[in-house]
Amino acid sequence: MTVPVVGVLALQGDVREHERALAECGLRSRSVRRPEELAEVDALVIPGGESTTISRLLVSFDLLEPLRDRLRGGMPAYGSCAGMILLGRTVLDGRPDQQQLGGLDAVVRRNAFGRQVDSFEADLDVAGIEGGSVRAVFIRAPWVEETGPDVEVLARVPDVPAAGAAAGRIVAVRQGRVLATAFHPELTGDRRVHQLFCETVRAAVAQDAHSKRSRAGGTRSTTAMSGHSKWATTKHKKAVVDAKRGKMFAKLIKNIEVAARIGGGDPDGNPTLYDAIQKAKKSSVPGENIDRAVKRGSGADADAAEYQTIMYEGYGPGGVAILVECLTDNRNRAAGEVRTAMTRNGGSMADAGSVSFLFSRKGVVLLGKDQDVSEDTVLGAVLDAGAEEVNDLGDSFEVVSEATDLVAVRTALQQAGIDYDSAEAGFLPSASTQLDADAARKVFKLIDALEDCDDVQNVYANFDVTDEVMAEVG
Ligand code: GLN
Repeated sequence: MTVPVVGVLALQGDVREHERALAECGLRSRSVRRPEELAEVDALVIPGGESTTISRLLVSFDLLEPLRDRLRGGMPAYGSCAGMILLGRTVLDGRPDQQQLGGLDAVVRRNAFGRQVDSFEADLDVAGIEGGSVRAVFIRAPWVEETGPDVEVLARVPDVPAAGAAAGRIVAVRQGRVLATAFHPELTGDRRVHQLFCETVRAAVAQDAHSKRSRAGGTRSTTAMSGHSKWATTKHKKAVVDAKRGKMFAKLIKNIEVAARIGGGDPDGNPTLYDAIQKAKKSSVPGENIDRAVKRGSGADADAAEYQTIMYEGYGPGGVAILVECLTDNRNRAAGEVRTAMTRNGGSMADAGSVSFLFSRKGVVLLGKDQDVSEDTVLGAVLDAGAEEVNDLGDSFEVVSEATDLVAVRTALQQAGIDYDSAEAGFLPSASTQLDADAARKVFKLIDALEDCDDVQNVYANFDVTDEVMAEVG
């Protein structure tokens, strides 16, 4: 399950307040000022402020067209006050050059209740929000004067002096995935309007993921990322019981040595070392080997090797992109070993940079399901620490975050009393190639050969296999 990211348009207005409200509703938020940032969010909040200014800034920040595109493409959006004005089809009493985003088929009257002096508060019944009325803060607020056929009216202000409509002025509306209020819910402690929007966002993200999967013709329930991890953990378990155990130990030990060299020999002050030791312990590497590696790395021992990290890139059978991470004290030997393993197993080397862009550096924490925790419990524990995804891998859960949030994520698990098996940074593919059984066999063979090289520390590949293929290949 992916935690949706909700952007808050941060050109002007109550940005922080909305970010806080979203976080309290359990979604991740980030401010959006540039088109690249807009491209990364699942939904957007357009805060109150001054619609004429925001409209001008949208143009100068090159956001106007990208934002219109996203709204046409079905991105969920919530506009408060000035945000409502911007989302409307037409604005009355606006400036002549004011730009409309057009996600909402409505005519909105700007400054409808009067100027600043006429700010007021009211208790409103809002359709879709339970538990009593919502305290609404109106500041030079607009109202909706006309609604299109698809627009649902959620709330009205009943007794505005001189209000024309008997039923009251429309101040909250929804059209599909677009929600707008004339008032500012971010200024009270009441999170129910944001919660309503967050429900829309969650449903929209789930629906889009579902239709994307059915378009691709697959019935997989896992993401591209977890496909690879799932295979890797199954394989990892097998490796422990067979002859590869020795090689695996050597790699875990090397990790410890290098971590101690870079950040010092005290695991309490060196999280990478802490994680490297934890992983080795979980894989039953003897304690004395671990201690020796820490000493070697931190310089307490004279015969320590000078390891350097080198990345190689290549293609495997079926066009699978492969990233090989070496940790070696002999560059030439590492290059030779990798090349040989590649060419003997249907792979080929590629130029630096030609496949690495398909991967991004992520933090991955794995935790076993043998302890009694649900996916929701895990998600609840890691959300505030920056987790982006919690994936169910069958026997374990995988928590993915930015690499820089890795320590925060695993610390959050520790604080919640949840035991984890490993926490490390690695390269995860942003998109994967689906393999059939034949191609999968070939790719597994190549990866095995690469992992057999003493200088190879990790192999990353952008493939995915279904459970059926996995069972067939064994
Ligand atoms: N009157 C302002 C406008 O025209 C809106 C005020 C607000 O967002 N609080 O944008």
